[in-house]
Amino acid sequence: MPLKNRDSMLSCLLAWFHKVREPYFFRQDRNPYRVWISEVALQQTRIQAALQPLERFFSYFPDVISLAQGDEKDVLHAFRGLGYYSRAKNLKKGALYLVEKHHGQLPEDYDDLVQVPSIGEYTASAISSVCFGKKNPVLDGNVRRILSRILRIAAPLDSKEFTSLSYQFLRKLFDETNMPPGDLNEAMMELGQKICIKGKPKCQECPVCDFCEAFQEGDTHLYPTAKKKQDKVPVLWHLYIFQTKEKQILLQKWENFYFLKGHISFPSLLEFPQTQKQIASWPAPHFLETYAQHPYKALSVVKHSITKHNIQIHPYLVSCENLQIEDNSFFLIPQESVSEHLVASALSKVWQKFLQSQ
Ligand code: SF4
Repeated sequence: MPLKNRDSMLSCLLAWFHKVREPYFFRQDRNPYRVWISEVALQQTRIQAALQPLERFFSYFPDVISLAQGDEKDVLHAFRGLGYYSRAKNLKKGALYLVEKHHGQLPEDYDDLVQVPSIGEYTASAISSVCFGKKNPVLDGNVRRILSRILRIAAPLDSKEFTSLSYQFLRKLFDETNMPPGDLNEAMMELGQKICIKGKPKCQECPVCDFCEAFQEGDTHLYPTAKKKQDKVPVLWHLYIFQTKEKQILLQKWENFYFLKGHISFPSLLEFPQTQKQIASWPAPHFLETYAQHPYKALSVVKHSITKHNIQIHPYLVSCENLQIEDNSFFLIPQESVSEHLVASALSKVWQKFLQSQ
């Protein structure tokens, strides 16, 4: 695209953005901490769904220091509704790193930002451009989709070829203009959210349609090129709710299990029907034979789907006379306190069904 066209395209884009930009609370003061947390959350959560959970998160943890000092369990709780809990844990690690290396402040430079746990290329570009005016283009899913259409790039969106062509174009675009890089990044992202959307883009309302090759050629439906869908792996999750006569429940801290690392859960066995593989959360090979020999009752199945897995949870109630388990990842707690320990939504669902069945 010639330089003159690139500049005109940016002017049209920014003029549109300044008219329609959403006054999201976390963007208004361009506070680097808020931009960091919200960008991480928005990578997995739609913006409208994230607004309330973000407000809650900031009310608990208003700055880097409070996050660094926060208890991990409280951080996970405050992050409810904002994506995977591994992200929340990484945010806390990031806050500890910032306290140790940068006096609790986010650094301005991209190269320093990408050293912070939880901050990848995308988030570093967003923070450095939006908060510090650095010329670092953001290349997220929305921007990739727009560029695939504007430049008619046939390579798959997540390919190296696509990434390299896009960065070449964006860097040139940012280098050769004096327009604020933070606004440009936000404008591109907003265009992808509102106009150049997945499926059928709203080209008639698009501020940059005069510069869009796919629109000019009448083949926007061909971009981005379709991606082969990956089938989700089916998993049968056998979950055991051990209940003593005194209504105590056996829970386990999963330090290094297949799912939900670091979470409190119930002793479980995962079965992968495609490969016949089984993974147990307990270390002793005869755990189940030893402790689940009591009659146990199958509870209703709970279905749960995550990015790469389709999960069927089969919970069982195992009533026990007494339980003496040596392994210190296990602990017994009164039934009424169980829900305080369950952070993952799949586990809360199982627990609710169990309580309803009592
Ligand atoms: S003209 Fe259509 S396809 Fe091109 S950038 Fe605008 S919305 Fe996207």
